[in-house]
Amino acid sequence: MLVSAKEMLEKAKAGKYAVGQFNINNLEWTKAILLTAQECNSPVILGVSEGAGKYMCGYETIVGMVKGMIKCLNITVPVALHLDHGSYEGAKACINAGFSSVMFDGSHYPIEENIAKTTELVNACNVLGISLEAEVGSIGGEEDGVVGAGECADPDECKMVADLGVTMLAAGIGNIHGKYPANWAGLNFDVLGAISEKTGDMPLVLHGGTGIPEDMIKKAISLGVSKINVNTECQLAFAAATRKYVEDGKDLSGKGFDPRKLLAPGFEAIKSTVKEKMELFGSVNKA
Ligand SMILES: [Zn+2]
Repeated sequence: MLVSAKEMLEKAKAGKYAVGQFNINNLEWTKAILLTAQECNSPVILGVSEGAGKYMCGYETIVGMVKGMIKCLNITVPVALHLDHGSYEGAKACINAGFSSVMFDGSHYPIEENIAKTTELVNACNVLGISLEAEVGSIGGEEDGVVGAGECADPDECKMVADLGVTMLAAGIGNIHGKYPANWAGLNFDVLGAISEKTGDMPLVLHGGTGIPEDMIKKAISLGVSKINVNTECQLAFAAATRKYVEDGKDLSGKGFDPRKLLAPGFEAIKSTVKEKMELFGSVNKA
């Protein structure tokens, strides 16, 4: 079922586990993630960045593909289709296209403007039963060509945005997108604890889940993180498996060039990565 992320994240927050957001890039990606969620009996959030939205021929195409797969693959676990790091215009476009969840990333605006734009979207999403993620404090690293410096969010600003009625809140706590550098200082749990205390029941979102050590992930969940975004790790797993297939010369043997064969190892690698994450996050059998 395509559903809002609200109920699954409230359950996760209360149950001290996290639901994974896995970003999709094409049909194989989407199918791998949906099948793994069903096999693990886990709720799941499919993330779509604006760049991936363009790549996949627009939001309507994606809604059609995901709804079709849910039906044809008999997916019964809760699935949210979520815009990742949306602009104000992108969020509105996804709401109109039939997404069940959107993120408005106003973290690069002054806090007053972030609040004004987030408030407008809260009203639009509430009317339609769509979940809304807001962000305070930019998350470092590169996403679709935009490089953030990475900062820790102000807990008072987090409280102000949480009180607007958003469904979930992303807050920078030293996390970054992409691979972490060797000299990374780690997550700032003092800041996370302070944000969690101020925002109460609000499910918190941890972006940049690739490469954060398992003990830090578990501690973050214990401090109120209920949604964890995974993107780069699936890309690395897919690329490594595809590279091995080609380097082993399998595309040159028999009908190994058939895209259904060529992409199969990458597909399986995504499935393994997603399953590992669902086990780590504690969402298995929580559908
Ligand atoms: Zn992010």
